[in-house]
Amino acid sequence: MSTMPQHSLIQIYELLFNEYGPQHWWPGDSPFEICVGAILTQSAAWVNVEKAIGNLKTADALNSTALCSITTDKLASLLYSCGYYNAKAKKLKAFVKHLALLYDDNLDKLFDQSINDLRKELLSIHGVGDETADSMILYAAKMPIFVIDTYTRRIFTRLGYDAANDSYVNFQSLFSTNLPHHVKLFNEYHALLVNHGKEVCKKIPLCGKCCIGVLCSYQSDKQAKA
Ligand code: SF4
Repeated sequence: MSTMPQHSLIQIYELLFNEYGPQHWWPGDSPFEICVGAILTQSAAWVNVEKAIGNLKTADALNSTALCSITTDKLASLLYSCGYYNAKAKKLKAFVKHLALLYDDNLDKLFDQSINDLRKELLSIHGVGDETADSMILYAAKMPIFVIDTYTRRIFTRLGYDAANDSYVNFQSLFSTNLPHHVKLFNEYHALLVNHGKEVCKKIPLCGKCCIGVLCSYQSDKQAKA
């Protein structure tokens, strides 16, 4: 697995921050809402997740007790806008049941453990994968772990990072090995990468508008071939 020097990662962060400014993540009024959002955003655009969260609020169902007692069918109908609504209803149910059974519906109690133990426990819950678990840990529990997503993989692959097997863990280690473990930095960096992946480093990248183009292998290879 190759690594990048810390100054490159910080340099990339600073260029992105100078371009886009603070991103104010994660959008959510409480740690519980952030956890719900982390499950609902799987394969869904955030605008559609917001609609589903709005439906939950209107139905007075955005809390662990209500989500435990609501029927799965009714819950699925409230989640319709964010796709895979039947599956996501089951995933949300699994999460709140875990919280109710082991922690009296209290997220603080769930979060009161080491990052490694918390991550292991979250991953044991139906429907919680790497990205969802790490989003909960970073944005709801406010503990320093780097979230990897499609945008991060795409941008760093194009920049020239070679993650063996394209694995989540290998991408994550690029950041955890080379950056100081600060919640604020990890929070902002991930949010900036999402923004950059949506706005500029798209499937067909807009390299002419890119603020990190000077550091990019994809861009330099393209220029060498021109
Ligand atoms: S130069 Fe192009 S490929 Fe490289 S990071 Fe920027 S937009 Fe993506």
